[in-house]
Amino acid sequence: MITCPCGMVFHSKIYEYVNTRQDPQLRYTVLAGLLNISTCPNCGRRAAHPRHFIYSDPEHSLLVYVDPSSDISEEARQLTLDKLRSVHQEVGIEVNYTFPAGEKSRGEERGMGVIIPARQQRKEANAPSAPPLHVVFGLDQLHELINASLSQQERLGRLALRTSSHREAERGQLLDIARKFASELQCQVDVEILPGEYTVWLYGSRRQIGAIMRELTPQG
Ligand SMILES: [Zn+2]
Repeated sequence: MITCPCGMVFHSKIYEYVNTRQDPQLRYTVLAGLLNISTCPNCGRRAAHPRHFIYSDPEHSLLVYVDPSSDISEEARQLTLDKLRSVHQEVGIEVNYTFPAGEKSRGEERGMGVIIPARQQRKEANAPSAPPLHVVFGLDQLHELINASLSQQERLGRLALRTSSHREAERGQLLDIARKFASELQCQVDVEILPGEYTVWLYGSRRQIGAIMRELTPQG
């Protein structure tokens, strides 16, 4: 439950675990920078609810522990890494720490990761192999990892439906159209309310957004 300074009380989902197989549209929520951001349905005010989360994309063998704060101390980073390593050694998967771009730490090349092999072999030889766990600090790094795993057509596309009308009915209609497409094509809807302008954004893969654009374009 979120209480907006305007007085509106509304529900907003806060994620600690994102699985793109269960919720394919969440990949694009993440890429649009809208995960764990609430938007007040009354005044449009946004509020961030930063917390660490796991991003799991089994389809692209991507497993990431995300600490959304990029400006934390080296000690805090180390603490997080040590904690994750001890947990994941038990289950026998690799921990892959990607250094923040631009930071040259311990002689690492810019942006390169360190792979710490699991100390233990998996006990069951035929158990499905888990992808290595990437650890990132800051959402930019997560976006880089995700984009690297996606084909051009799978990357983020977006489309704006906009009206300058203040009439509730017209705005509602726009939102209904967007929601209809979103549920059909597993896209994400986000409302942006500015003075004199009401915009409904649709986020999805370039393929999905392209399909919506074709539908919206009047046929000759
Ligand atoms: Zn509000």
